[in-house]
Amino acid sequence: HADIAMYHAKDSGRDNCQFYSVSLTERAIQRMERQARLRVALERDEFSLVYQPQVDAASGRISSVEALIRWTHPVLGTIPPLEFIPLAEENGAILAIGGWVLRTACADAVRWQRDGKCVRLAVNLSPLQLKDPDLLPIVRDALASSGLAPELLELEITEGALMEDTAATTLALDALRNLGLRIALDDFGTEYSSLAYLSRMPLNSLKIDRSFVSDLPHCAKNLEIVRAILAMSHSLGLSVTAEGVETVEQMTALLDRGCDAFQGYYFSRPVAASDIPALLDRSWSLHEAPPDDSRCAC
Ligand code: C2E
Ligand code: MG
Ligand code: MG
Ligand code: MG
Repeated sequence: HADIAMYHAKDSGRDNCQFYSVSLTERAIQRMERQARLRVALERDEFSLVYQPQVDAASGRISSVEALIRWTHPVLGTIPPLEFIPLAEENGAILAIGGWVLRTACADAVRWQRDGKCVRLAVNLSPLQLKDPDLLPIVRDALASSGLAPELLELEITEGALMEDTAATTLALDALRNLGLRIALDDFGTEYSSLAYLSRMPLNSLKIDRSFVSDLPHCAKNLEIVRAILAMSHSLGLSVTAEGVETVEQMTALLDRGCDAFQGYYFSRPVAASDIPALLDRSWSLHEAPPDDSRCAC
C-alpha cells in the first residue's frame, strides 16, 4: 500500500506527505498486528528461552546463566526481544510473559540441579514487573513450585526501573532481597542513574553495557570509563560483570582492571537449556591468555 501511495503522490505532483502518512499508518498497523499476536503468543506456546553463561574471573568457571526470551511466530518467524519486549510493555502483556519466563527458567535451573549441576540463574525483569504489586507473590510462587533456592536467583533490572518511583522501587527491591534473591543492574551506562541512587538501592552487582566493551582495548576513553565503573562499583560493594565480551583482548583488558565476571560470545552464545549441563563442566584459563600489544602501550 505504501508503494502505491508514493506512486500516486508523485503522479499528482503533490508533496509526498501522503507517502509518509501512509507508511506511518502501515507501521502502526504492523505494530497493532504484532501486539495482537503477542497477546495470544503465550497460550500458543510460541515463546522459548535460551541461556547464556557468565564466567567468573577468579575461577574461569560459569558462575551464573542468564535466561533470554525468544519469540518464534509461525508466519512472522523469529522476532528479536528488542523488537517485541517494548510492544509487550506497551500493552501490558509483559506481565504474563515475564511470569512465564520466571517459572520456566526456575524449572530449567532445577532440572540442571537434578543433573548434579548447580548454577545461579539470572532473569531479566521489565520496569513494569517491578511496579507490579503482585511481583513478590509471583516470584515466591516460581521459587516454591520449582523448588529453586532463592539464593540461586538473580533478577536483572535496568537503570530506568531504578529511577522510576524510587520509594516504591526500593520497597520492591528490599522485599525481593529479603526473600534471599540477588539484584543486578543491567546495561549500566546506557541510561541515567545518579551515584546517590546506586548507593541507596539494594543491589548486588552491576553489568557494564556492551557499548563500553566493544571497542576495548583500543579505545582509551572507554578503558577509563570501565576503570571508573569498576572503582565505583567495588567501593559500593558491588561485583561487576562485563557484557558483550567477544574477543580475548577485550576479556584481558577487563580482567587486568579487576572485572569480576564476563558474558559474551567469546565464552558462549546463548544456548538451549539442554546444552547448559555440558557447558557447566567447562572452564576457561583466563590468566593464560596471550598478551597483546595494546597492554604494553598503557
Ligand atoms: P540483555 O539483558 O542486556 O541481554 C544481553 C543481550 O546481549 C542478549 O541479546 C544477548 O544475546 C546479547 N549478547 C550477549 N553476548 C553478546 C556478544 O558478545 N555480542 C553481542 N553483539 N551481543 C551479545 P538478546 O537475547 O537479543 O536480548 C536483548 C535484550 O532483550 C536483553 O538485553 C534484555 O534487555 C531483553 N530481554 C531478553 N529476554 C528478556 C526477558 O525474558 N524479559 C525481559 N523483560 N527482557 C528480556
Ligand atoms: Mg540482562
Ligand atoms: Mg544486559
Ligand atoms: Mg545489554
